[in-house]
Amino acid sequence: MVKRIIKLLCLTLFLTLSTATFAERVTVRLFSNNRIEAIYVSFDLGIYSLYGDSQLLEPELGEGMTVEVKPAANGVSIAVNGYNYGTFQTAVMRATDTACILCLNPKGVKQRTYEGDLLISAFDRSNLKIINDVDFETYLAGVVQSEIYGTNSDIFRVQAIISRTWALRNMKKHKADGYNFCDYVHCQAYQNRCVRPDIMLGTMQSSGETIVDKDGNLIDTPFHSNSGGQTANSEDVWRAALPYLRSVKDTFSFHMRQSDWTKVISKDKWLNYFAKTHKLNTQDASVRNTLLTFTQNERQAKIMGVQLTRVRTDFGLKSTFFTVTTDPKSGDVVLNGHGYGHGVGLSQEGTIRMVGLGIAYDSIIRHYYSGAKIHYDPSVSQRYVQNFVTEITKIIEEDKANPGKKKSKKDDWLGKLFRVRDRMDREEEYDPEKDLKEGEMKVEW
Ligand SMILES: [Zn+2]
Repeated sequence: MVKRIIKLLCLTLFLTLSTATFAERVTVRLFSNNRIEAIYVSFDLGIYSLYGDSQLLEPELGEGMTVEVKPAANGVSIAVNGYNYGTFQTAVMRATDTACILCLNPKGVKQRTYEGDLLISAFDRSNLKIINDVDFETYLAGVVQSEIYGTNSDIFRVQAIISRTWALRNMKKHKADGYNFCDYVHCQAYQNRCVRPDIMLGTMQSSGETIVDKDGNLIDTPFHSNSGGQTANSEDVWRAALPYLRSVKDTFSFHMRQSDWTKVISKDKWLNYFAKTHKLNTQDASVRNTLLTFTQNERQAKIMGVQLTRVRTDFGLKSTFFTVTTDPKSGDVVLNGHGYGHGVGLSQEGTIRMVGLGIAYDSIIRHYYSGAKIHYDPSVSQRYVQNFVTEITKIIEEDKANPGKKKSKKDDWLGKLFRVRDRMDREEEYDPEKDLKEGEMKVEW
């Protein structure tokens, strides 16, 4: 009975905490850039239940068990450790605890691990639709890990805020497909569960924070690898001129991995491109001269009337922020460029540099999104965030004190963290009388 009450309490707490963070859960299509002919699912942490549609097939899936799902006529075939359960519309694997980790091995694609639930159906006889139904903030930590590099949790805090803002603005991006997001750059990269405590720390510290304009609306938060020293106006890359996506000087993006690039193109190819594709008269000496000596001390939107974004796409350039010279020996055109990406909004490497210089995360966001501000959702539980941050900081410090210590799956920091949190919540909140009355009446377990 006590165990049952604790479960009830955990469920209640979990629901309360989830509703406090804008979006409770999201559905994300995994391996959306691949054709998946079969998938093998194993269980790294916690216990899962397996359903074929709404029929319970296996109540307890754990370590040592493998579920095999393949497309079949009118659905998917489901087998567990070689025993075939038949064909269903959807194979569902539900986590029975807050700390559950799945290991996904699709045929021909690199293995990944995820938290939360898994729903597998088939597009056709040779392609599975794999959906991860997961807590929003857990998804976000996975996105942050996939989208930015670094070692300081403030870097991840900045990325978490812009990725959270993007996700909340774009919850309906794949509504017609039946899920919220794909796991590819079309939405935001979500290539694995978050496996690093420092990334989880930055994400947790940013709980409830989003970026809004002066009217309090969530802003569009584009970002790119490196601005090359100056960000771009939104209208120079896309159509709309947004007040918070203005070009700003960004020396923080200098001297980083993606600050500079060079590309050599034959002179004929370069000039023929403008002559054929854009109908410029390259026989004209002044036109030729402009195309061969084009210089950007400041970012331009066009070269002789041609959108630089188009030139970037057609030549596969890292950015539109380049200068043209000619190699005196070979006569080839040499593009000397700065930065990587479209250049609009936040520069990730600029952010990494700014964090290294000790600049506060909110100042970084204001630097890249002109006039925008950080909104804090007052409904997010401070106690919850604070406890989580304290515990995870402890785990990071323990790890630092024992570098290179091999950990078993049972020692996974996330499982440890959730166990600590559950215990903490039980100790603080457990009131047997109150829960007996409220829990028993409200929830069917
Ligand atoms: Zn997408």
